[in-house]
Amino acid sequence: MNFLTPGPSQLYFTVETHIKSALKNDICAISHRSKAFQQVIGHTIAQIRQLMNVPDDYYITFTASATEIWERILQNLSAEYSYHLVNGSFSKKFYDFAVSLKRNASKHEVALGQCFDLNSFTVPSQTEVLCLTHNETSTGVSMPLSDIYELRKQHPDKLIALDMVSSAPYPDLDFRHIDTAFFSVQKCFGLPAGLGVWIFNEKCLEKSLALEKAGMSTGTYHTISSLVKNIRTNETPETPNMLGIYLLGKVCEDMNNRGIGAIRNETNYKAALMYHTIQQGENFKAFVENEKFRSKTVIVADVIKPKASFFINKFKEHQITVGSGYGAGKDTQIRIANFPTHSKETFELLAELMSK
Ligand SMILES: *Cc1c(COP(=O)(O)O)cnc(C)c1O
Repeated sequence: MNFLTPGPSQLYFTVETHIKSALKNDICAISHRSKAFQQVIGHTIAQIRQLMNVPDDYYITFTASATEIWERILQNLSAEYSYHLVNGSFSKKFYDFAVSLKRNASKHEVALGQCFDLNSFTVPSQTEVLCLTHNETSTGVSMPLSDIYELRKQHPDKLIALDMVSSAPYPDLDFRHIDTAFFSVQKCFGLPAGLGVWIFNEKCLEKSLALEKAGMSTGTYHTISSLVKNIRTNETPETPNMLGIYLLGKVCEDMNNRGIGAIRNETNYKAALMYHTIQQGENFKAFVENEKFRSKTVIVADVIKPKASFFINKFKEHQITVGSGYGAGKDTQIRIANFPTHSKETFELLAELMSK
């Protein structure tokens, strides 16, 4: 079966080989404090840095999930004020976490399927961290990088946090325009779930140290200061997901060998084919009306007739599982993941099935 679901998704095609080599090399049995495992962490970080062009002075650290990183960002980067751009379930959850943590959180929220008009909201001046979601997985809306860079220009003094969970490593992001970004590995990286990657700069470290100095709690084991102290020697505060970290390094190495440019080109080709197919026939309609905001990595279509489940079942007969709609769109939409492991051939077959 080919899983074109937006997470978990089809495993990257080299993962099976790498799991075997992990077992052969006792990756799950050696000490997480050993030189051998420090080398694994060093390798994984170097490969992520190369793949995503992360500047040398940005820290790359590991957590249990992206969900955890929402919480850690709020704990470490805000004493009181966070501001959120909300356009779907995931960006909304980031905001909800801030409310749960008793932050004085505010948001600008737009309808599902929409992105943001930078002229239609004002970020409050007291905002400490501005929380953005590059790719809203529930609706297939992607925020243009130029809008993110514009927000940085308007707010040079605020920290900018970017959720890239269902787009990284596709976007050619210039990290200098943001302070922290994060993803988990079961989406575009095609790995088993249970690992989050948190990237942040010196300004984030300074902010979190300032909060600690002021007597605030920034959490326990996964505070920025604890993560930084450990990662300096390629270590983690806890016993981490060692297999996950090993596999991520191997898959990033495979992607670097293939070339991020080639991966982006193929992603663009598959996305163009899919949106074209959706627009051609009478059964589907692109959920995101404005082409400028259509995600390349999570493609959401309204099913006009008969029912989403009809197509989901039909595709399954041809060994393709697509995602159902999210939340309110559950019975009326399909969501198609377009990740690096999904082949052109699979997309061409799906396009053919959708056109019939
Ligand atoms: C899946 C997803 C998350 C949560 O990731 P977990 O690995 O489940 O913690 C957060 N943000 C976005 C945009 C997502 O798609």
